[in-house]
Amino acid sequence: MKIYNTLTRKKEEFVPIEEGKVRMYVCGPTVYNLIHIGNARPMIVFDTVRRYFEYRGYEVNYVSNFTDVDDKIIKAANEENVDAAEIASRYIEECKKDMEALNVKPATTHPLATKEIGGMIDMIDTLIKKGYAYDADGTVYYKTREFKDYGKLSKKNIDDLEAGHRDIKVDGEESKKDPLDFVLWKPKKENEPYWESPWSNGRPGWHIECSVMAKKYLGDTIDIHAGGEDLIFPHHENEIAQSEAANGCEFAKYWMHNGFLNINNKKMSKSEGNFFTVRDISKKYDLQVLRFFMLSASYRSPINFSEELVLAAKNGLDRILTAIDNINRFMENAVDAALSETEKENINKLNELKEKFNEAMDDDFNTADAQSAIFEMVKLANVSADNNSSKEYLATLKEVIVTLLDVLGITAEKEEEILDEQIEKLIEERTLARKEKNFKRADEIRDELLEKGIILKDTREGVIWKRV
Ligand code: AMP
Ligand code: ZN
Repeated sequence: MKIYNTLTRKKEEFVPIEEGKVRMYVCGPTVYNLIHIGNARPMIVFDTVRRYFEYRGYEVNYVSNFTDVDDKIIKAANEENVDAAEIASRYIEECKKDMEALNVKPATTHPLATKEIGGMIDMIDTLIKKGYAYDADGTVYYKTREFKDYGKLSKKNIDDLEAGHRDIKVDGEESKKDPLDFVLWKPKKENEPYWESPWSNGRPGWHIECSVMAKKYLGDTIDIHAGGEDLIFPHHENEIAQSEAANGCEFAKYWMHNGFLNINNKKMSKSEGNFFTVRDISKKYDLQVLRFFMLSASYRSPINFSEELVLAAKNGLDRILTAIDNINRFMENAVDAALSETEKENINKLNELKEKFNEAMDDDFNTADAQSAIFEMVKLANVSADNNSSKEYLATLKEVIVTLLDVLGITAEKEEEILDEQIEKLIEERTLARKEKNFKRADEIRDELLEKGIILKDTREGVIWKRV
C-alpha cells in the first residue's frame, strides 16, 4: 500500500509501527458554527482511508479532536451572551449529526482540548525544562530556532521565514524574543475562559493541543497524521517542533493532506456569498451524494463544487443503487441452481474488477479509479443479472459491490430519508387540495408524511412541520 507523504514529497510503501495496527490522528474542526462542506472533505477522505485499512485487516486507532477553546468560539459566545462551553458543546453535537449523515464513523476517541489542559501544561513544562520554551510575563513561547529540523514538513527555510516575520507585530506578543517564536500558553483577557498554570491564568495555544492529544491517545510516535493542506504550515510544522523536542523521537511517519474544496472555481467565502454548510446541502441531497462526489477526485487535488458536478455524482450513485435494487428483486424468485459456465466467467471478471479496486486504493487511495471499478461491476451486473440468474451468482455480485461501496462509506440499502424540499412540496400540495375541498388527498398527504416521521401542525400562520 502506497501513501503520498508530505514529509518526503514522495509516494512511500506503508509500513506500520506495529504489525497489523494503524495509529492515526486527524486534526478536527474548531466548533463555533455548523461545519461547512470544506470541513467535510478531510472528514470524508480520512474516514475512507480508515475504512480501507480496516477492509485490509488492520486495526485502526483513529483519533480526531474538537478544538473547543479558541478566539472564534469566544467571539461567538460573546455575541450570543452565553458561555464559550455552550457554543462548543452545541456545535460538537451538530457536527456529530452531520458526520453521521455523511457516514463518517465516530473516531475511536474524539478528545476535547478543554479536557486535556493538564497534559498541555506538562508538555509545556517539559519544553521549558529542555530549553525549547520560555516564559515572558505569563506568556510561554516556543523557541523556534532551537529546533534544528524546523521547516522540514513545509520545506520552509528558517531565514526566509525570519525575513517575512520581521515587520509583523502581533498585539499582546511584544514580549517575544524572536519574531519566529510561537505561543504555547497565553494569559487570559477579560471575559475569557481560563485555566490555572504555573505561568498565568490563561489558555493553551492551538498547536500544543494536537501534540498533547496525539501523545496521550496514540503514543509518542504515530503512523499517520492528517488534515487539510492549509494546516501544513504553521500548524503541523509547529506540532512537529513541539512533539519531537518534548518526546525526543519522531512524531509521525506519514503526513497526509487533502486539497481544498472550491465553489464554482472560487475560494469558498462567506463574504462572496458562495459558502455552504453541510446542513445546507442536506436539504437538497442525501449526504451520501456529497460523499460520493468528494471521492470522485484525488484527495490531494483541489475539488470544484458545482451544482452540475454534484448532479453528475448523484446520477452515478443512483445508477449503482438501482443496480443493487434490481439484484435484490431478481433474488426474490431466483432458484438454487449451480453456477452456469457464463456465470463462472462473470465471477472471474468480477474478481478482476475487485483487484482493480484494490490496486487503485493501494495507490495512495485513488478513490476516483476505485469508483470506476465499481461502475464497471454495475455494468457487468446490468447485462448479466436477470430473472434466470442463479441465487449464488446474484448473491456474489451483490456481496462484492456492497462491500466495496462500504469501503467508500456508501450504504447500499439505506432507508430513504425524505428531504426538507420534498416535505415542503407535499405541504404545498396539501394546502392546495384543502382549498379545493379535496380532503381525501389532503389526508393522504398528512398520513404519508406521518409514516415518514413528519408531523404537521396547522396554525393561523400556516403549516408547521417537525421530524419525530
Ligand atoms: P478548521 O475548523 O478551520 O480548523 O478546519 C477543519 C479542517 O477542515 C482542517 O483540516 C482544514 O484544513 C479543513 N478545511 C477547511 N476549509 C477547507 C476547504 N475549503 N477545503 C478542504 N478542507 C478544508
Ligand atoms: Zn491539529
